Amino acid sequence: MIDLRYWFSPKVLPTVFEDADQYAERSVPLETGGMLMGYWTPQGPVVIMATVSGPKAVHNRTTFVSDGNHDEAEAARIYEESGRIHTYLGDWHSHPGGSGQLSKLDKDCMATISEHQPSRCPRPLSVIVRGPVSPGEWVVCVWLLDEGRFSVLQPDERMVA
Ligand SMILES: [Zn+2]
Repeated sequence: MIDLRYWFSPKVLPTVFEDADQYAERSVPLETGGMLMGYWTPQGPVVIMATVSGPKAVHNRTTFVSDGNHDEAEAARIYEESGRIHTYLGDWHSHPGGSGQLSKLDKDCMATISEHQPSRCPRPLSVIVRGPVSPGEWVVCVWLLDEGRFSVLQPDERMVA
């Protein structure tokens, strides 16, 4: 079996960590999140951009429920603007003060996405942003659900800034 790795474009982490309204640390103690858009290669997923949560998203201490209508419209817009290249790859969300592990709910969400035909995402990613591990410092953990199996992907060095 191929050792899949992930690639993040340089735009991805700044969205998650620095966007004024969504910066994971600003949401503490509440979770926040968004979508991951990009494409798959035989070596693994290439994440071109992360989106931020919509106005109707529900932020709680240990759960985050995305704004479905907002996300659907965003995904469609990004897909069209990319010339129908950048598709929905999965989601990211923060675990303020928590671990990089998937919760039962996180796993259930990924399983639902993988089986939800209109999402066209049989192998969803879920990026957990945990922290702060020290002031201002957050760590990403990239999970993949592939054929019923959850695994952590490592970055490809070529894409690590
Ligand atoms: Zn979670």
